[in-house]
Amino acid sequence: MNIPFDNTYARLPERFFAKQKPTCVPEPELIRVNRELATQLSLDTGWLESADGVAMLAGNAVPEGAEPIAQAYAGHQFGGFSPQLGDGRAILLGEVVDTGGARHDLQLKGSGRTPFSRRGDGKSALGPVLREYVVSEAMFALGVPTTRALAAVATGERVIRQEGALFGAVFTRVAASHIRVGTFQYFLARNDIDALRRLADHAIARHYPNAGEGQDAYVVLLESVALAQADLIAQWMSLGFIHGVMNTDNTAISGETIDYGPCAFMDAFHAQCVFSSIDSGGRYAWGNQPDIGLWNLTRFAETLLPLLSDDPGKATEVAKAVLSKYPERFEKQYIARFSAKFGLSPEGPIELIQECLDLLGTHEVDFTLFFRNLTRVAGGEDSQTLAAMFSSGEPFEEWLTKWRSEAEPAKYLADMQAANPVLIPRNHRVEQAIQSAYGGDFTPFHRLVDALASPYADQVEYVDFETPPRPEEIVRETFCGT
Ligand code: AMP
Ligand code: MG
Repeated sequence: MNIPFDNTYARLPERFFAKQKPTCVPEPELIRVNRELATQLSLDTGWLESADGVAMLAGNAVPEGAEPIAQAYAGHQFGGFSPQLGDGRAILLGEVVDTGGARHDLQLKGSGRTPFSRRGDGKSALGPVLREYVVSEAMFALGVPTTRALAAVATGERVIRQEGALFGAVFTRVAASHIRVGTFQYFLARNDIDALRRLADHAIARHYPNAGEGQDAYVVLLESVALAQADLIAQWMSLGFIHGVMNTDNTAISGETIDYGPCAFMDAFHAQCVFSSIDSGGRYAWGNQPDIGLWNLTRFAETLLPLLSDDPGKATEVAKAVLSKYPERFEKQYIARFSAKFGLSPEGPIELIQECLDLLGTHEVDFTLFFRNLTRVAGGEDSQTLAAMFSSGEPFEEWLTKWRSEAEPAKYLADMQAANPVLIPRNHRVEQAIQSAYGGDFTPFHRLVDALASPYADQVEYVDFETPPRPEEIVRETFCGT
């Protein structure tokens, strides 16, 4: 199999990365190849699933044309700056251009130590690999910009984590690029303005090719990234998604969701909902995500100041003006997305939306199921099931009366159906799939991935994935697993 690599990041100066081959593993075994994505990338699925293909996916064989590197980056983690993070357990094999002309990184995650590993082992346990596979592919099917899962393979070796000696695995990630806000911060921290300019030019060519040239292009870059993040975060919010580690090194310039660690979809709605075991202060709670998005973008803007103008005062003014567009864009997108969920005109009213979210929070109502049931009511069913989701009926009945007078189900039913998924990767189901896999049975994992490929469709064979967890099934905490 000849993979038509066309690498551009590896052409950047050597200080952008470290050349690093993946580490061999003892007994690679295929878990799953994403055939649809493979086909889009013009990769032969038969070959990927063969012993040679699996050897590549495990890091045991480096294909011709690959130029394996670990990328350098820095980042603010929970607000504190680390000048050197980098790919500590990931190796970029190279780039391929898909059938539609779009460029993608092919990256192995969990394939051994790199010069950026610090105290880590560079490996991944099976759990986080399956988690990223399930959630990133679900996000894609839900219509959210995201990195993708090309494959997962078991390595046949154990990795030591807090929970004990766990089966190891390697994940193959596909991304528009792996350039992060933290990649820019890495060079700002070194006062390497030449590198910043090269990185910005590379990012523009790759993600925002209409930005033009010269200083204006950097303004367009900042604005494009800011608007892409506003749109992305509004979309997360509308699906009850909590990223969990919105550090600047986990914020992609492309506008894709990246680095699925302790992320989660909410079951019962709660605006300050947090799952991540390491987010004790609730910095990355559901309701904080838009503000954190702006905080991260402000860090990005700081890295571009030297490129925006030769006059530092003017550069700051320009950056501020661009960033001031973010809150407005976010608000507009947020209202439009929630309006669609409620069958309202794209402008809301926001008061009706907020009142309902407050009720969902007070009564601990399941977020996804509420909107499904509301969609059914909009489609003509009676409101009994919907109203029964609230522990005391009166305030909700009052709200429902207002909703009936404001919403236009006849006009917006299709929008509601397209905005309110039947299936999300519920935490307890992801957890069950992982536990089963550790026990040697991958059937629940495959079944979950198959079901989540069509999250907006009614699929009778997967109704068990629709229901919220029973009290004893609720997962309250999620882990990075690194
Ligand atoms: P994350 O929180 O997963 O986004 O990772 C933050 C940083 O820790 C990145 O620089 C990772 O490369 C690094 N890292 C995470 N897990 C490991 C590991 N097992 N070995 C080496 N580095 C790691
Ligand atoms: Mg990361």
